Amino acid sequence: MAPRPILLIDDDRLQHQLVKKIISRFRTGPWEFDGALDFSAGLKKLVSGRHAVCLLDYRLGKDDGLELLRAARVAGCTVPVVVLTADDSVEVEDAAMEAGAMDFLVKREIDGRVLERSIRYARKLGETLERLNQLATRDGLTGLLNRREFERILEEEWQRSVRFERPFTLLLVDIDHFKQVNDTHGHQVGDEVLRHVASLLAGQLRSVDRVARYGGEEFAVIMVESGCGAAMERLQRICALLEDMPCVVGEKELVVTVTLSAGVAEMNASLPNAAHLITLADKALYAAKDAGRNRIVAAQHGRRASS
Ligand SMILES: [Mg+2]
Repeated sequence: MAPRPILLIDDDRLQHQLVKKIISRFRTGPWEFDGALDFSAGLKKLVSGRHAVCLLDYRLGKDDGLELLRAARVAGCTVPVVVLTADDSVEVEDAAMEAGAMDFLVKREIDGRVLERSIRYARKLGETLERLNQLATRDGLTGLLNRREFERILEEEWQRSVRFERPFTLLLVDIDHFKQVNDTHGHQVGDEVLRHVASLLAGQLRSVDRVARYGGEEFAVIMVESGCGAAMERLQRICALLEDMPCVVGEKELVVTVTLSAGVAEMNASLPNAAHLITLADKALYAAKDAGRNRIVAAQHGRRASS
């Protein structure tokens, strides 16, 4: 695979020529160079995520380089960024680090060695942060979001939904009789079943939806811009798919068939908070279990909550 290019965002064309020349002489390499001369072109390239590292000018013509960096971070961009500046001030250095830069270089001090080392450290640090972030937010077995991250996202989604009056629906999904799978076939098979259901859920939902491993054999899903009915329909299709594609484990191709029960609750501004939505979905899930499992039950909203 070709190495990903180094991106320079700088309004000074001479700087582009200089950096391009320096990069061509890097000991590690060869590196490809990519450049942008202004804020909007730079931001677009940076958030594309296809660069190994970005060198970002602090004074981007009339624009502020750090603002570009903040905008990229808000958009979820994790490409490591080294800020380049003409003036050597502690305030600028602090502001750059605060905005999410991995390093800070004064332009007149840049030579091949300094730049190559800075880029190498920025990438290393970027990779480490990325790994730490994965560990902190993902479930190790399934790769789905973990519970803590899901609850953080649910809170965000709640605020967004209240502010913009957009609907979303929360689903709690549980594998029926999962303990029997473990007891009959062992935990390794149980783990395979968890991964199978997880990948089916993640694969069948839209990329804007969020899915987490919420507990042992329980999954939580946020379907954005969806009311209860649409969310139930989509989950119904996933349940049908699971019936057609049971989990097949190991060389002996052991077929393990499982079904799902789910509780579904639509966001409603009359509810006090996101935690209450979880409670509603959880109650609906218990109702689904009570009614014989392998079914989806919608939460009973509201008025009772006020009594
Ligand atoms: Mg400049």
